Amino acid sequence: VGLGRSGLAAAKLCLEQGAKVHVTDSRTADQLGPDFAEIAPSVQATLGEHPEDIFTEASLIVLSPGVPPMPQLEAARKAGVAITGELELASRFCQGRIVAITGTNGKSTTTSLVGEMFAAAGRDVFVGGNLGAPLAEGVLAKHPGCAAGGYVVLEVSSFQLETVETFHAHIAVLLNLSEDHLDRYPDYDSYIAAKGRIFERQRIDDYAITNADPDQYRCRMVASESVAPLLTFRSEKSRGSGAWVADDSLCVRLPRGKHEWYPRKLLGLPGLHNSQNAMAALLISRLSGVSQDCCQTALADFRGLPHRMQLVGERNGVAFYNDSKATNVGAVVGSLTGFERPIVLIAGGTDKGGEYEPLREVVSNACRHVILIGAAADKIESALNGTVALHRAESMEKAVELGRFLAAPGDAVVLSPACSSFDMFRNYAHRGDTFAEAVQKLS
Ligand code: ADP
Repeated sequence: VGLGRSGLAAAKLCLEQGAKVHVTDSRTADQLGPDFAEIAPSVQATLGEHPEDIFTEASLIVLSPGVPPMPQLEAARKAGVAITGELELASRFCQGRIVAITGTNGKSTTTSLVGEMFAAAGRDVFVGGNLGAPLAEGVLAKHPGCAAGGYVVLEVSSFQLETVETFHAHIAVLLNLSEDHLDRYPDYDSYIAAKGRIFERQRIDDYAITNADPDQYRCRMVASESVAPLLTFRSEKSRGSGAWVADDSLCVRLPRGKHEWYPRKLLGLPGLHNSQNAMAALLISRLSGVSQDCCQTALADFRGLPHRMQLVGERNGVAFYNDSKATNVGAVVGSLTGFERPIVLIAGGTDKGGEYEPLREVVSNACRHVILIGAAADKIESALNGTVALHRAESMEKAVELGRFLAAPGDAVVLSPACSSFDMFRNYAHRGDTFAEAVQKLS
């Protein structure tokens, strides 16, 4: 159900295993394009609609993470049909050791950094999941990381975790928690409960890792449910084992190990939030036997990912940063806190049901102006009233032009929307690219 990249990979994996596969998607064959055309001759397809009988007559339903609750699924559940997801399905055919990383923000950055550390150590590693290639693609391609002796580093979303059952992570990581996806979950507790499922199948010889900052106390509560030993990272000096920030260094201490120090400036990415991601990556890699030298090399070489506080241009002393991947309030707070330049912020898009009031402090401290775009503009405006000057723009091009006009030399214009993008763009990458193009067009 749902023929995005992971749905197609799941369909191919089922075919490879000899299943009779029926696929369904609300889009038409034309809209689905060549990737669907490739599997079309081998499957039965029902497109543009979801008749109930194909759900109730299946022996297994593989549900894509983006598919919202539907009455057909309820009917199938009542009829006793098993419902799973691509991650659970693919993990059943994966022999590699799994590192799984979840959290509201920082998943992609941390997953990629761990991948670089493992690669620096010459490990056979498959990096993917919710980021890049789904696990089913790795399994299908017989990627050495997915074979016995290999390593699999996965970014895992709350949606994917909803359908896990036997999925087992040797190292499971919960980076942080803040309000997100409240358009999909009935409340914040349900979202947290989905995230917590990453620890469900852990054993005593596994590891759980989470954030021990005081404002992240819920992470600790959730991770403590794991039977595996728990290691934590925190933003202030600490003792015992785990990782913490100590002035200009990141300190890591494995259980029964010595203190290890990694200069913070090795990491080319700004902000305390990226130090947290780096600490999580260091704990994962060191627990997996990657040497300190290889960790240092990867930290120093890692340049970050596109659409995450990415410098995309400079005009007359004004820098333009694309942080389109900041699709919730916590990400914007992470990105803007401690940023070295005064900011003209471009925010807004599709509302996901959370509160914008937590932005007030960082906007007051870090921003000179806020330019609002998209469907959530009214809601954000009322939440930010009385902080800094608030403006409106009807398109990304207009927002960028206005940002340039409002910014003084030495300032930064930052697109960090706190919303998803679907009101005006295909996805966050399309939004970020549109921002970067608008910056290039400035004379
Ligand atoms: P995810 O995959 O969880 O969406 P990314 O690594 O893609 O996370 O980063 C998404 C956004 O969140 C970026 O805008 C980034 O600046 C911000 N961010 C990254 N790491 C953190 C963190 N540890 N805490 C808060 N915000 C973060």
